[in-house]
Amino acid sequence: MDPEGIYGRNDRGRQIMRRADRVLEGLDQLFPDARCELDHQDNYELAVAVVLSAQTTDASVNRVTPALFERFPDPASLASGELPEIERLIASLGLYRNKAKSIKGMAEGIHERFDDKVPDNMEDLVSLPGVGRKCANVILAECYGVPALAVDTHVERVSKRLGLADKTDSVLTVEKKLCKKIPKYRWIKTHHQMIFFGRYLCRARNPECDRCPFTDICKETERPRLKQAKED
Ligand code: SF4
Repeated sequence: MDPEGIYGRNDRGRQIMRRADRVLEGLDQLFPDARCELDHQDNYELAVAVVLSAQTTDASVNRVTPALFERFPDPASLASGELPEIERLIASLGLYRNKAKSIKGMAEGIHERFDDKVPDNMEDLVSLPGVGRKCANVILAECYGVPALAVDTHVERVSKRLGLADKTDSVLTVEKKLCKKIPKYRWIKTHHQMIFFGRYLCRARNPECDRCPFTDICKETERPRLKQAKED
């Protein structure tokens, strides 16, 4: 399976293809219905939720957003909101003071510069306060179906453990490697599946390796396995 011919025909290319294919097939079996778990009704709500989700769980964000969106239902209302009130509504989240400033600033940008419409391109999105490349990729994929592969903490960790990226790679390098190894038509789906895999199985601490289908290719288990083989 190499529909875009991106792997080339040499041994190394074939090896990379096999590993990537193994991962995609395994993820399809584990999480066929993986999806965005941030509750939202429209693009504005998704953009706010994505910014709030930095360094916290989607479940925590989903607990604060109903009241936040009831009080501030659109970019214009959030843009004119008072910071103390916004802070109070999201106070249960880590970094809530910075996040309050970010979502207010982002709403101002959307309202004043983009006619109340969440931008549909990377350049405009990252010009908004609080929106980095990862958030922009999520917004592009979720709001507009633009193929994008956002690398968050889960995607970075599992990509490295599964040998799709090297341990020392930066987040941007991980993104570039994944985009090269995974067919474009699968980027959005694979992003969600990797997040589910990192969130529910290959957790940072205490991953459930005993029920993981990737133990034979996992870089994390390679060393203990080699050590075990020597002892045997
Ligand atoms: S074997 Fe364990 S560490 Fe490796 S990918 Fe699977 S769950 Fe993660």
